[in-house]
Amino acid sequence: MQLTDSIQYVKGVGPKKTAELKRLGLHTVYDLLMYFPRTYEDQSVLTKISELQAGETATVGGTIMNVSERQGGRRGMNILMALIGDGTGVLQVTWFNQKYLKSKLKVGRKVFVTGKAAYAFGGRGQFAMSQLHSFEIMDEDEEPASRAGIVPVYPATEKLNQKFFRKVIAGLFGEELAIHDLIPQRVMKSYDLLPRQKALQDMHFPADFTALKAARKHLAFEELYLIQCGLLLLKRQARENSKGIRHLLSSELTAKVRKSLPFELTADQARTWQEIQRDMESPLPMRRLVQGDVGSGKTVIAMLALVKTVENGYQGALMAPTEILASQHYEGFCRQLEPLGIRIGFLSGRLTKKKREEMYARIAAQEVDIVIGTHALIQEGVEFAKLGLVVTDEQHRFGIAQRAELEKKGTLLPDVLVMTATPIPRTMTLTVYGDLDVSLIQQLPPGRQPIRTFVRKPDRRDLIYDYVHQQLAAGRQAYVVCPLIELNEESDLPSAEEVYDELCYGIFRDMPCGLVHGRMKAADKEQVMQAFYEDKIKLLVSTTVIEVGVNVPNASIMVVEHAERFGLAQLHQLRGRIGRGQYKSYCILVSEMKTENARERLKIMAETSDGFKLAEEDLRLRGPGQFFGSMQHGLPDLKVADVLNDMDILLKARQAAQETVASREERRDILPILSLQYREQFENITDI
Ligand code: ADP
Ligand code: MG
Repeated sequence: MQLTDSIQYVKGVGPKKTAELKRLGLHTVYDLLMYFPRTYEDQSVLTKISELQAGETATVGGTIMNVSERQGGRRGMNILMALIGDGTGVLQVTWFNQKYLKSKLKVGRKVFVTGKAAYAFGGRGQFAMSQLHSFEIMDEDEEPASRAGIVPVYPATEKLNQKFFRKVIAGLFGEELAIHDLIPQRVMKSYDLLPRQKALQDMHFPADFTALKAARKHLAFEELYLIQCGLLLLKRQARENSKGIRHLLSSELTAKVRKSLPFELTADQARTWQEIQRDMESPLPMRRLVQGDVGSGKTVIAMLALVKTVENGYQGALMAPTEILASQHYEGFCRQLEPLGIRIGFLSGRLTKKKREEMYARIAAQEVDIVIGTHALIQEGVEFAKLGLVVTDEQHRFGIAQRAELEKKGTLLPDVLVMTATPIPRTMTLTVYGDLDVSLIQQLPPGRQPIRTFVRKPDRRDLIYDYVHQQLAAGRQAYVVCPLIELNEESDLPSAEEVYDELCYGIFRDMPCGLVHGRMKAADKEQVMQAFYEDKIKLLVSTTVIEVGVNVPNASIMVVEHAERFGLAQLHQLRGRIGRGQYKSYCILVSEMKTENARERLKIMAETSDGFKLAEEDLRLRGPGQFFGSMQHGLPDLKVADVLNDMDILLKARQAAQETVASREERRDILPILSLQYREQFENITDI
């Protein structure tokens, strides 16, 4: 049997099961091998029946003492019940509609039962298995000790149960399957890895937890190593085989801009700017990620870099994820740079066709130096005369593909700077942005008012909004954030629309209020945001659309309704909308805090303002799935490795991948494996 064979040829898999497996995305023998257990059950430890605890999963070894059969329920279900004894007590095990089992359940047979223990119905303290995980009948001559062990638990479905997966996958390892190592021998040796065959087998059927740990480690390494190889090869391809722009050292204009700023750069900003200059002055194209918490001052860094490219006779582009942000940047850039004779252009989907085409023409004729805009910047028709630098703000909103689109717009490859405020734990920076160099801006500019954060229950809403009203009366502005846009029958959460109605016609009826949410037309949204920006709206009720980058220094208070519905990283982003000016700012998180998890998360929110710490907590509390979901773009899912806990493995895998990419031979060997494992993600790697 071949790894690439269709699952329909696997023993025990008929046409019906084949269809079911395909629904799970499992098509080949290999897919099945890579279908890893969700968890494992330790059946190596037997629990005495007298020591069972209700609600806990346990394995019991015993003898069948009695079997009974009856019809029950309205539909006349067949109910089989066996009593199992182990000398310390008696356990009930029940099966519904599994009549065929009856012939196997012979009194006196030894069995192993794993499941969740519960008090038997009407059984006076007797135990039953409320959830039966496995039931094994031993052969007459089998020793009990040879049976118990660590048992895989697969992500099963209604039609494909545990037993099926266990049997079919165990069967595969009985076959003559040629499972080759994916990792070069040199790496295998120097990083002390297992043969792949063994790692896979132990991942499914480990002899003990040590073996399982080793298998997991191997497979996590393998996965991270391959992804790192892919990312590094992409990076190498971009660098070695493309000519970048060599910006010159001279920096009169940038120095002028720097001097005209009303503040000094922070040490982190200065270092980042150094790193960017070095990249820009190198003949290789720059690929740099600037990661800095909200309000850390990334914009000015982008501005300096754009000015540098202009000074060198090139054009620069700054792409923002929303209309609002783009126009805010546009205004700021005009104010700062036009006095120095730098020509700024604006491009967005909302311009009239005529205006847009005018702008295209000016861009093509190099009559503008810096173009600021939205996705419209990467539309067909935008041709730069001499593109030197592309900056994308809030990268997580753009995919790798879009970045690549923009890069294609130059003849020489332009330098690329990516800015993100999403604090990403280092493990993830390396996996998600493995093809970029990273600069960190960790400190905030001096003199910032810390934001005070409170967590309150909804029964305090009246008081909270009274306080907000006072703040508005004193001249400030406020945000109210809600998780939902409109009334939803399935949920009892108040929607943004409801909250808006309640507030706008209630306690804030004497204040201009506005509502923005994601389903409004862009133009309408824009209008409301603009009004808020100009202080014509005092209270803004919104969904998370305000999350990114909006800068209204006069807004000093934020109320988040149903705060438990947001991730920590997201709350942090939201909270970053306030505390941007000279006013003391307050963030009030409203939540029932019904679960322990919600309580814990909101408490962390109130206690820390460190975005990186919050991101890590978020990852820990929500699990990588959800966290990753929002920012993974076109990168392979991690099947084994864990972005939070496998940092040490990641660093080793990255090191190994660097060695591989540096070696011509290993590079050649790894490419076919990459395209086999991760075809879509790394199909663009051609040059080796
Ligand atoms: P973000 O990193 O979130 O994009 P911004 O670039 O919008 O942050 O900066 C937030 C505010 O901080 C802006 O008003 C900016 O003018 C100001 N700022 C940036 N750098 C400094 C600094 N070194 N000292 C004082 N204020 C600064
Ligand atoms: Mg910004």
